[in-house]
Amino acid sequence: MKRIGVLTSGGDSPGMNAAIRAVVRKAIYHDIEVYGIYHGYTGLMNGNIKKMEIGSVADIIHRGGTMLYSARCPEFKTLEGQLKGVENLKKFGIEGLVVIGGDGSYRGAQKLTGHGFPTIGIPGTIDNDIPGTDFTIGFDTALNTVIQAIDKIRDTATSHERTYVIEVMGRDAGDIALWSGLADGAESILIPEEKFEMADILSRLKRGHDRGKRHSIIVVAEGVGSGVEIGKQIQEEMNMETRVTVLGHVQRGGSPTASDRVLASRLGARAVELLLEGAEGRTVGIQKNEIVDLDINEALALPHEVNQKMCQLARELSI
Ligand code: ADP
Repeated sequence: MKRIGVLTSGGDSPGMNAAIRAVVRKAIYHDIEVYGIYHGYTGLMNGNIKKMEIGSVADIIHRGGTMLYSARCPEFKTLEGQLKGVENLKKFGIEGLVVIGGDGSYRGAQKLTGHGFPTIGIPGTIDNDIPGTDFTIGFDTALNTVIQAIDKIRDTATSHERTYVIEVMGRDAGDIALWSGLADGAESILIPEEKFEMADILSRLKRGHDRGKRHSIIVVAEGVGSGVEIGKQIQEEMNMETRVTVLGHVQRGGSPTASDRVLASRLGARAVELLLEGAEGRTVGIQKNEIVDLDINEALALPHEVNQKMCQLARELSI
């Protein structure tokens, strides 16, 4: 293999730049040429492809977002779109591709492999919802952003004796809510993977209030539904002054944490090694702090599971 390509796709996440840098530098270290594909699968279909050098990825390891930009590209779900992509890759003499993104982007990578084009997936999403890896690139940074926000909200909550509902991202996964709720000592954490009763949340709130607590923090994963609705219910049923904060896209930005930069560097380098070893249709991940790889079809077939022991711990510590 003499020439590879790299793209970022779907929702961006902090640390994607560090992963691009690792792919580019590791390839060049092995005398392989690297081409950057801009705007995800849209750029692949349009031929928005440029050669990258060592200097192309200088000064990006600490930056959020993605220097290759990202996009959602519905046309790539069609056979025609995919074949156009393969044709462009061949036109540029590219023999292997690294796709950095979430599970949607993985499906695109799976299709490319199915068309005979070796593709490796790197998990880049703040949601931590990719099976086959304990952590995705961007999750740790998003968590830190969330806890900084909750810490600030906690200060004002104490001053005013209020209940605060914080809605966090995560799509259908509750990982951001669970980890940030645990890290911030939230009274209740609502995630889509766990059934909850509103009555139980209300009685926890009442118990805390009767004990003299001046504030309560409830973290709600977006996959559960609207934090605003949950806040309304609390306000009405408890007659407790309640404020809702929807953190939104601040969670997707910012300089990646050390943990995300290191993870991105390790995964990016491993993806290139896999291509050099002749692998096709694999994903890289981290399990028990070791870098692993698995078949992309198998990875996509695995269910996302939330850590049950952490759910239990969060319950026990928020009595
Ligand atoms: P993420 O990668 O963050 O999960 P999306 O689900 O939006 O984000 O997927 C990103 C892109 O991946 C889509 O816009 C599309 O171009 C491509 N994609 C998603 N699903 C498929 C599929 N089934 N086949 C081919 N390409 C797909």
